[in-house]
Amino acid sequence: MVVHAGTPRAVAGPPAARGHEAQLVEVFGVVQGVGFRPFVHRLATELGLAGDVRNVAGHVVIRVAGAPDVLAGFRHRLAAEAPPLSTVTNVAVGPLPDAELGDGFAVLDSVSGGDTNRDLPPDLATCEACLAELFDPGDRRFRYPFLNCTDCGPRATIVAELPYDRVRTTMSRFPLCPDCRAEYGDPANRRFHAEPIACPACGPRLAWYAPDGERVDSGSSALTLAVRVIANGGLVAVKGIGGYQLVCDAGSEPAVSLLRTRKHRPRKPFAVMVPDLAAAREIAEVGPVEVELLASPAAPIVLSRTRGPGRLARSVAPDAADVGLFLPYTPLHHLLLADLARPLVVTSGNRTDEPIAITDTDVVARLGPMVTGILGHDRPILSRYDDSVTRVIAGRPAVVRRARGYAPSALPLPVATPRSVLGLGGQLKHTTTLAVGAHAVLGPHTGDLADAATLDAFTDVVERFSTWQGVRPEACAHDLHPGYLSTRYATRWPADRRIPVQHHHAHIAATAAEHELPGPFLGLAFDGLGYGTDGTLWGGELLLADYVGFRRLGRFGSAPLPGGELAVRRPVRTALGYLFAAEDLGGPAPEPELAVQFLGRLPAREVDLVRRMLAAGLNSPRATSAGRLFDAVAALLGIRDDNDFEGSAAMALETAASAYPQAGALPWRLVDQGSCGCTTRCRPYGPS
Ligand code: ZN
Ligand code: ZN
Repeated sequence: MVVHAGTPRAVAGPPAARGHEAQLVEVFGVVQGVGFRPFVHRLATELGLAGDVRNVAGHVVIRVAGAPDVLAGFRHRLAAEAPPLSTVTNVAVGPLPDAELGDGFAVLDSVSGGDTNRDLPPDLATCEACLAELFDPGDRRFRYPFLNCTDCGPRATIVAELPYDRVRTTMSRFPLCPDCRAEYGDPANRRFHAEPIACPACGPRLAWYAPDGERVDSGSSALTLAVRVIANGGLVAVKGIGGYQLVCDAGSEPAVSLLRTRKHRPRKPFAVMVPDLAAAREIAEVGPVEVELLASPAAPIVLSRTRGPGRLARSVAPDAADVGLFLPYTPLHHLLLADLARPLVVTSGNRTDEPIAITDTDVVARLGPMVTGILGHDRPILSRYDDSVTRVIAGRPAVVRRARGYAPSALPLPVATPRSVLGLGGQLKHTTTLAVGAHAVLGPHTGDLADAATLDAFTDVVERFSTWQGVRPEACAHDLHPGYLSTRYATRWPADRRIPVQHHHAHIAATAAEHELPGPFLGLAFDGLGYGTDGTLWGGELLLADYVGFRRLGRFGSAPLPGGELAVRRPVRTALGYLFAAEDLGGPAPEPELAVQFLGRLPAREVDLVRRMLAAGLNSPRATSAGRLFDAVAALLGIRDDNDFEGSAAMALETAASAYPQAGALPWRLVDQGSCGCTTRCRPYGPS
């Protein structure tokens, strides 16, 4: 919220002096976990108002008494001067008859309730004030890895249930010491009602474990051991805020290569945590919008144009034009970066395609074999949150992966939903969403659902999510693809409460909703593959759509994918599909010379096999995909024959193309076939 310094102040005075009135004021939005009750307390006390404030379920309820003009000023400043991390969506005011409010103003215990407005703030990066304490040798929290306040610290990852109070977080196991209790109870203190408040005397402690889980040391010596291992080129599993992370020296080629081998991740770029903005600028082209993102309380990974490897090992982002950078966002990260004074690879603590490890047993079993040691602690993580990924597009921030720091705060919807809907994503990069009224709450990223372990994580997310929101969704929206794990999960729902949605309609409607467009809208989806309403694979689509249906106005030319899934993993196959059997839209044939070179370098058996598959129409589904076209071009140009992670060939093609910034557009043509060119289901699609 913006604080309006010039807001006229209401006159303070004792409430009983003039015509005395009592009101019930309810504040909705992101108002828990952001220092809202302390703010109300300070404001009411300043204005000399009597009453109390408490969290009730997901909102804040204030009983307040005073002179009418003072009450009006109070209500105005409630919204105008709300804490910076809060979002006030509504302030409801009603009379409060028969109220017996005392003289002072109190913060009361929370009350659980049945309302459905449950906005909880995401985890927040360490604030400036806490950072100053962290590195102040005179402070009682000097180098304490778990310090936080009402402006920063863990939230979504430690909360079991709303209302947001310490007893319902994983901090409940740490009874407050007298000093922390005094700060927590002092309205003048910046830790007044900071629920995760902690200090070295009463809060969580670090521990250093051997890869087999044996506890070796604790406290500051645990950190020293971790720093030593990383400095010597080793790999460490670090318990972050939303899950374990794998950490190593980003400047050490042997360390990064070792991480690649152990994580089974040959080429996909790693995110790099840098000590400060100056270090970020050394590595990448970081403009003002990138700086804003990096330094925001969400502290996401920001994809930025790399300046070349520089201080980074070449294998950090081998083929990428962009590098993902972020700043330390917990006290523990700040300590690691300060002690090591170099960029670190900080990547999710998982094996490729598995969910991130969050429990200590999990980390030993799954990450133990990869690392030299484990830097853990005794504050449990309840909800798994990966790091968010952002980039700047056309001068504006765009969220590529909405997770830690953003989720689970609600997004406004341009059109309110009449029923609460659980939205399930596709197979890859899966995210769950709950839409209630005019808001959508996105759950954390749950990864690739191909993995059975991920289905458990997924079920867990869906259930925790519904509990949090206090919502039993009335309908379930899911992808049309019958083979997706999320679709199979959706079939648990009765048919009349399921809403199948075409993949690219979902992409386009989601983008329109993000930008709060009312609809109808024209949308272009440049995608990999999604199940079409005609049962074929789509992926380069022009749709005229609104939030309930769409018409397919145009599409890319189609080509077969010889071997189906195999062609997705091996762009060479797709290129052969385009070469031998692309849809004839009357355009020029590929340069014969290019094709000869391409075919000449491939194994003759593979070319022959594909020819026979295509002739027989065997396992070669046709697709109108933009992503597969990029794959085919990457293979034809000899840039990449195989996709070792999703988008790898397209990314390498983009990097190669960026070396020719002055190159003009390639020739292209638009074929008007009277309608969209599809022969079967060219009609509006939506619920019948
Ligand atoms: Zn703080
Ligand atoms: Zn304490």
